Amino acid sequence: MNVRKMLHVAAVLAVCGSSAASAVTAVGPICNSAAKVLSTTYYSCTGSTHTALDIGGVACGDPLYAPLVGVYTYKLYGGCANTCSGSSCNGGAGNYFVVSGANGWDFRLLHINTDANSTTKTCDRCLLGKVGATGSATTPHVHLDNRQYGTRKTAWYTSVGTTCGSSASCGTTIGQPTL
Ligand SMILES: [Zn+2]
Repeated sequence: MNVRKMLHVAAVLAVCGSSAASAVTAVGPICNSAAKVLSTTYYSCTGSTHTALDIGGVACGDPLYAPLVGVYTYKLYGGCANTCSGSSCNGGAGNYFVVSGANGWDFRLLHINTDANSTTKTCDRCLLGKVGATGSATTPHVHLDNRQYGTRKTAWYTSVGTTCGSSASCGTTIGQPTL
């Protein structure tokens, strides 16, 4: 079986399995060419285990967009006062959004500063709020992770070659999370 045929079979299986999780495309959440990936599997690229993407390099308060390509429901967990220098709120997550998928998968955006755009909403790459540092964040950034039953996974960003220093502006594919 050639590769094209295998891809076709995989696509059919994904459509037929009603409870099957599938990979979706995630693009950079900040429409600013200065936006960069600051951490991947390790904090600040070489620190302790992180297993997620931290995206920053822009000013606190820059607009933050929903990163998934396609219409998804982003559920807001708020209640933290906006800050650009960190806080202890929501267990270190700060204000955050969660997109829930099948089979225990979810996709999260943490440390957000909220504004009038920050509500639970169903949309495609809409405004969600601002880059901030609510929760455990020493600099303004957004933390993106893809988890299954609460365990953070790496394949969603390694599969597309996202490394520390990569662009995370809104035109760049940064991962293919499973949902
Ligand atoms: Zn992080």
